[in-house]
Amino acid sequence: MGGVSLVWFRNDLRLTDHPALTAAVAAGRPIVPIYILDEETPGLRSPGGASRWWLHHSLAALDASLKAIGSRLILRRGPAERIIKEIAEAIDVSGLYWNRTYDRPARERDARLKENVKSRGGTAESFNGNLLFEPWEIKTGTGGPFQVFTPFWRACRSARPPMAPQPPPTKLPAPRKWPASDALDQWGLRPAKPDWAGGLREGWTPGEAAAADCLDRFLDRRLESYRAGRDMPSADATSRLSPHLAFGEISPRRIWHTATATRASAALDKFLSELGWREFSYHLLFHHDELARRCFRPAFENFPWVNDPQVLDAWQRGRTGYPLVDAGMRELWTTGWMHNRVRMITGSFLVKDLMIDWRAGERWFWDTLVDADPANNAASWQWVAGCGADAAPFFRIFNPLLQAEKTDPDGDYVRRWLPELAHLPGAKIHRPWLADLPGSVYPSRIVDHAAARSRALAAFQGLKKAS
Ligand code: FAD
Repeated sequence: MGGVSLVWFRNDLRLTDHPALTAAVAAGRPIVPIYILDEETPGLRSPGGASRWWLHHSLAALDASLKAIGSRLILRRGPAERIIKEIAEAIDVSGLYWNRTYDRPARERDARLKENVKSRGGTAESFNGNLLFEPWEIKTGTGGPFQVFTPFWRACRSARPPMAPQPPPTKLPAPRKWPASDALDQWGLRPAKPDWAGGLREGWTPGEAAAADCLDRFLDRRLESYRAGRDMPSADATSRLSPHLAFGEISPRRIWHTATATRASAALDKFLSELGWREFSYHLLFHHDELARRCFRPAFENFPWVNDPQVLDAWQRGRTGYPLVDAGMRELWTTGWMHNRVRMITGSFLVKDLMIDWRAGERWFWDTLVDADPANNAASWQWVAGCGADAAPFFRIFNPLLQAEKTDPDGDYVRRWLPELAHLPGAKIHRPWLADLPGSVYPSRIVDHAAARSRALAAFQGLKKAS
């Protein structure tokens, strides 16, 4: 049996519970691990700035883990089909293995590749490494896809439990000749001029080992208080596993099995159901093309969005005059992450108070989040905007002041991200307009919430009448 096996790493930058790698090891041939930065296949979305930073470090960590077991990571940039063909011409490739991704352009590319490899007499196999359940496995009573989360998750919970995670290989057989590789630094994934990644470096450690530590710390110290604390942005009560999951540094199966091995509790169920929302987003992505581009409810395509770059800029920079909204946007800019509750509030503010198209918010999050995820980001924005599957109804409009008083009662979260308001005591921080601060210190409110709410509801009524 000649030739080598290519293991094509994508959003699964780990060695533990990596079904494609396990299958390649079982095939018994020398293994070439490869990562391809494919920004050229039509329809594929390039990673945003924060994701590029994470990707750099995650690839470096994966290469180090591979070197520890006698291998290395080959890096190539370009359309994946061309790169794989070039490698197959340079060395004898008998097998190609990868874990699946679920957006249509990638699926179509992968299907072409599979055909191509097979037509040349090779093996091409793909696996589920990134979800608990394949999107096509979970079906409604009539055999179709779900559009509502609760019955979807009920169906998942009564399906066959996710497979146990597979251990990492301890040694990988190396080929006699390695194909050419780019140098990681050559890709320029880290920002240089200016270097805005200080907050990312401070807050995060990309890589598989850090992902496993993150899970252990969460289960040891925070799971107990997860149910009560997960809606309080200053409580630090959630797992912060999202970027590790987005890059596949840990598999959802490993999270599932490690978590369910702890004591059963309502907090555990709640945590698992959040993983369920991730599954639901992927279910939607798989069954609906263009989740990030088209409203799930087509009537919303006629919504009279406001196109105002200055207003969008104020939201992006955290200069709306609403402290909780601004704190969230600054947390995002500084750390590449934002608390889920605050994502909902800032999102609602953009779409409903400012009436800016949800796709502008989705793009900003795509660029600035370290956990930017094609399914979760698009599905969550559609949920916030009221145009998604099982979405919050459009007329449920968050009041940013009431939300602030409820979720940040002492103002600790706002105080952390808006130092210019830190001197305002307790919940007074949420009403800086009463403190008479100069506009150079903190802006006045960009809209009056009550008036903005009426405007949004009128637009929604107009949409309903027209459809
Ligand atoms: P935990 O509460 O510890 O949850 C564990 C895991 O479950 C998360 O890591 C995540 O993978 C999943 N999860 C939790 N909440 C949700 C949810 N509401 N929807 C889907 N999956 C969930 N999440 C992303 O991973 N990437 C995104 O790009 C993204 N964009 C979002 C945009 C908006 C407007 C909103 C409202 C939410 C978005 N989310 C996104 C969902 C959610 O905010 C994050 O997954 C969560 O805040 C991550 O923090 P955590 O890991 O501490 O979550």
